[in-house]
Amino acid sequence: MMGQTDPIATEPIAVVTTGGTLDKVYFDALSTYQVGESVVARLLAVAAVTHPVEIVEFSRKDSLDMTDEDRARLRERIAGMAARKIVVTHGTDTMTETAAALVGLGDKTIVLTGALSPARFSESDAPFNLGMAFGVVQTSPPGVYIVMNGTVFAGNSVRKDRMLGRFVRITG
Ligand code: GLU
Repeated sequence: MMGQTDPIATEPIAVVTTGGTLDKVYFDALSTYQVGESVVARLLAVAAVTHPVEIVEFSRKDSLDMTDEDRARLRERIAGMAARKIVVTHGTDTMTETAAALVGLGDKTIVLTGALSPARFSESDAPFNLGMAFGVVQTSPPGVYIVMNGTVFAGNSVRKDRMLGRFVRITG
């Protein structure tokens, strides 16, 4: 194929894990779902990903427990990273708040994604969402994006619709 270049093929990607259902583990009937060790490394290994990637565990929180202080620390952490391509795994309930807190970080492309059902479940949306985020972060210009339900949203133009169980674009 003529004229096609591949300038971003080796640009390293940082995956910052914050928790959320993507990483949840079920214990037993007496307990609730807890955020466990991140499944991100396993999902990338299953997909035989060879792209240079660094996985950084930031927290293991349900996103309802993320505070403004957590978001400020996350912003600082990402600002200090050499990587310009960053995927953030995050609970869906407050993903948009964190997206807003990450706006304005210069030349970084930041893609937030998560899952509505744990990656440890066979019918989880986690592998699809992480895979899509991994692709979008490589090809999108700097900015903050949310990748959920097969759609790339600008970080500030989306909300989670709990009734529908998916993310929808904010219109008007
Ligand atoms: N409360 C959960 C959270 O936002 C909702 C499910 C999910 O992780 O997406 O962390």
